[in-house]
Amino acid sequence: MPTRLRIAIQKSGRLYDDSLKLLKDCGIDFKNGINKLKTEADNFPMEVFFLRDDDIPQYVEDAVADIGIVGENVIYEKNKKVIVSEKLGFGKCRLSIAVGRSEQYTDCQYLEGRKIATTYPLLVGKFLQEKKIRAEIHEISGSVEIAPGIGLADAIADLVSSGSTLFMNGLKEVETIFHSEAVLIRHPLLGNEQQQILEKLLFRIRAVRKARHTKYILLNAPNENLREIISLLPGMKSPTVLPLAEPGWSSVHSVVNEDDFWEIIEKLKLAGAQGILVVPIEKMIL
Ligand code: ATP
Ligand code: MG
Repeated sequence: MPTRLRIAIQKSGRLYDDSLKLLKDCGIDFKNGINKLKTEADNFPMEVFFLRDDDIPQYVEDAVADIGIVGENVIYEKNKKVIVSEKLGFGKCRLSIAVGRSEQYTDCQYLEGRKIATTYPLLVGKFLQEKKIRAEIHEISGSVEIAPGIGLADAIADLVSSGSTLFMNGLKEVETIFHSEAVLIRHPLLGNEQQQILEKLLFRIRAVRKARHTKYILLNAPNENLREIISLLPGMKSPTVLPLAEPGWSSVHSVVNEDDFWEIIEKLKLAGAQGILVVPIEKMIL
């Protein structure tokens, strides 16, 4: 049987959709009817295992899977011997401490001698140690946010993205312990063939991620302002400039970073650019 790279991804939950989408955007198609435990790619030497996110670092450490996609929070809490190969830019969240909204909280000394409920005892323990605070960590496996309300703990440490869950439970965020996003992890020792497949996958992931942040822009520019317009559009090397059928005008093509996008558009309009089209890029190879 030919060598396949075995990847573990979350079987359902917050990372599932983005993990599958990333693989699909990398041009990897799966056999019909993902059976939710294991599937094979049709056009790439890859096998996918669908697991609970908590178990993914262990599977990769044990070489049951070669690579995995999981939140950094899980990796550092589980403390497994895996290597982080690549940040993936989704599943962003933070591990934060929260207390009741009416509590007087000025600094982390508040936590001295208190009880903190969390599913992340290791990360919380490290934080308390760094701050030289003695507090009791009460490990629970879920629904952490209700702990203060039912008298189980004085504070909680939990994952937050928008903060709406905390708000709905009458809590306020007071300290951030850790910032996390989804990452690609790998077993420290991969066979030669697996290593080569991983390189191919990483090449595609980087092209997809780069493209997600970049837009292709086309516009019409009056020739007298071409120099100014070109200076606003650095492009991959430099913008493409083609003459329009109408004398005195050119068509300019380039790429722009999503973060600078609106600011550049404003300046382009001021410089006389017209008919500005902005289109998504699927893959970007530099
Ligand atoms: P599983 O059944 O696989 O164990 P789970 O309930 O532990 O799932 P999810 O809630 O699906 O996990 O979250 C998976 C990951 O998504 C988290 O470990 C974290 O890295 C990331 N994440 C991003 N935003 C949030 C958030 N607001 N709350 C919780 N996790 C978040
Ligand atoms: Mg989990």
